[in-house]
Amino acid sequence: MERKYKFQFSELEMQSSVTYTLVSRFDIEPNILKAEMDDSGGVLILKLKGDEDDLNKAVEYVQSLGISVMELSKHITRDHDKCIDCGSCVAICPSRAFTIDRDNWEVHLDFQKCVACGSCLTSCPTHAISLTI
Ligand code: SF4
Ligand code: SF4
Repeated sequence: MERKYKFQFSELEMQSSVTYTLVSRFDIEPNILKAEMDDSGGVLILKLKGDEDDLNKAVEYVQSLGISVMELSKHITRDHDKCIDCGSCVAICPSRAFTIDRDNWEVHLDFQKCVACGSCLTSCPTHAISLTI
């Protein structure tokens, strides 16, 4: 199974050792969707793939290190009747879930790429996007 998570680190050097341990100790396949770092730490948005039991144990382990873990179980929906293909969401989406088809200038959404950050909600002038659980 696959789940998306947000890991928030206060110590930058933890990031690489944690992802290594997920693979070596818990047989988890991590796919980093987004990484932001500065001197005080960082945030990783990642998709973890593995057995459900291993995933639960891996998350418990990460939390035991003092890393904040949030499961991104929400997903976005778009109301096509309200969407005017303005492209605002394309410009703001950090994971490139929204794209523009250059042939017809329609805006497309790839749900698999969405990390449920919520940025596109406020960018949409027609309130066509919503986050649901
Ligand atoms: S919530 Fe919106 S801006 Fe954030 S990743 Fe998903 S589609 Fe992109
Ligand atoms: S910002 Fe809203 S109206 Fe504009 S393309 Fe995206 S979903 Fe459609």
